[in-house]
Amino acid sequence: MAAHKEKKSEERNHKNIQNDTQASQVQWGRAWEVDWFSLASILFLLMFAPLIVYYFVMSCDQYQCSLTDPLIDLLMRNKHLSDIWNKTPTLTYTAAGIYIIWVAFQVILYVFVPDFCHKFLPGYVGGVQEGAVTPAGVVNKYEINGLQAWIITHVLWFANAYYFHWFSPTIIFDNWIPLLWCANILGYVVSTFAMIKGYFFPTNAKDCKFTGNFFYDYMMGIEFNPRIGKWFDFKLFFNGRPGIVAWTLINLSYAAKQQELYGQVTNSMILVNVLQGIYVLDFFWNEAWYLKTIDICHDHFGWYLGWGDCVWLPYLYTLQGLYLVYHPVQLSTASAIGVLMLGLVGYYIFRMTNHQKDLFRRTNGNCRIWGKKPEYIECSYMSVDGTKYYSKLMTSGFWGWARHFNYTGDLMGSLAYCLTCGFEHVLPYFYIIYMTILLTHRCIRDEHRCFSKYGKDWKRYTTAVPYRLIPGVF
Ligand code: NDP
Repeated sequence: MAAHKEKKSEERNHKNIQNDTQASQVQWGRAWEVDWFSLASILFLLMFAPLIVYYFVMSCDQYQCSLTDPLIDLLMRNKHLSDIWNKTPTLTYTAAGIYIIWVAFQVILYVFVPDFCHKFLPGYVGGVQEGAVTPAGVVNKYEINGLQAWIITHVLWFANAYYFHWFSPTIIFDNWIPLLWCANILGYVVSTFAMIKGYFFPTNAKDCKFTGNFFYDYMMGIEFNPRIGKWFDFKLFFNGRPGIVAWTLINLSYAAKQQELYGQVTNSMILVNVLQGIYVLDFFWNEAWYLKTIDICHDHFGWYLGWGDCVWLPYLYTLQGLYLVYHPVQLSTASAIGVLMLGLVGYYIFRMTNHQKDLFRRTNGNCRIWGKKPEYIECSYMSVDGTKYYSKLMTSGFWGWARHFNYTGDLMGSLAYCLTCGFEHVLPYFYIIYMTILLTHRCIRDEHRCFSKYGKDWKRYTTAVPYRLIPGVF
């Protein structure tokens, strides 16, 4: 009798676990409830992120990139906030004109020039591609033409620099702070528009999330894949075009400024241009793969992506180049080779790890990783409409070493960019500090989401691959 009761209660528990797993599985995607820590972080970022960007750029403009001197000046009452503010360049018509032309040109390249690169570049995946299944079970189509936009933009940049001379290649550096105001205006307009759109005319209502907390919804976004018309996808456009196409142009403008000021470009500036150039080109070469990354697959479009892509990315990811304009570091040959090697090895790990997952997922496990058939854990999840999907989590290759070894490679590359600047100031190291926080937080966020999505299958995976970033350590 007792045994019978035990069996019944075991069955009940089993059912409950199943129900719990189902309930949690349909909640994958962005959080539905906001805990106080998330809310506090969001309020902090909304209030201070624009100030942080301003502070970094201003400290280069007025204090030779010293982060401490402005504070010392203020604390010692040598200066008032108003003195610093009054010395800050304001928005100009020139900057507004440059910015409008720049964004409009990128919109034209994105919307009106279908990809032709995939027709002649072997191995490149461009043109119309499908994204991942959204929580509502939708599969979006994307026009992948970022590589082409990057090439056209850069060909025109060099054509202007060496042939047409319509404008100086230092144009970005020369208007850097006025352009910051333009980028902020666009960032806020886009995020606010995305919020209003999410409420009143969403692209896909089933993929919208409302937490009821205004600040959280504004920051993390309501709509999953906001679009205008069939093809203008906010996430793909804003991350790639005003953000990442600009990255290499900004670095080129810094190099041109070094040339103008000192009559030469230092090896550190060349290293920053080359290493970050590889990263940017890699992004566009693999833009179709990017559709399967967290930004596109899981994040909703709010201020975090909208403002972040317009302001945070172009202004803070390029701090090393900006610093080198003020401090033209010439590295010894040994240091330059060391930094280059670190950057290339980091890039190799980053790319190979991402490639292994992409290959594994594309072929549904029917591929070879390091010469062998990959090992994996079978898992399942459900979309909101109750449809059950199956997936696999690979435990071979770099994915058997750690659960996010791609982040480890990314961090090695990020450190290399910073090391080009020597050790005199902390400002150029902002990037590695930020990336460490971002990617560690991303690990935790992603794992939380994967656990909600896969439930006990995710537990089996974390038991098989126990470390996150560094095997044996973390
Ligand atoms: P990943 O490419 O690591 O994608 C994580 C997702 O992959 C998981 O949510 C899960 O999705 C799936 N997955 C996890 N483990 C496995 C496995 N073992 N086998 C198969 N699939 C698995 O993360 P990100 O999208 O964050 O990053 C992509 C790249 O972009 C990284 O290299 C990162 O370094 C870089 N990055 C750079 C940033 C920058 O600002 N420079 C910012 C963010 C990222 P599913 O639900 O499909 O199972």
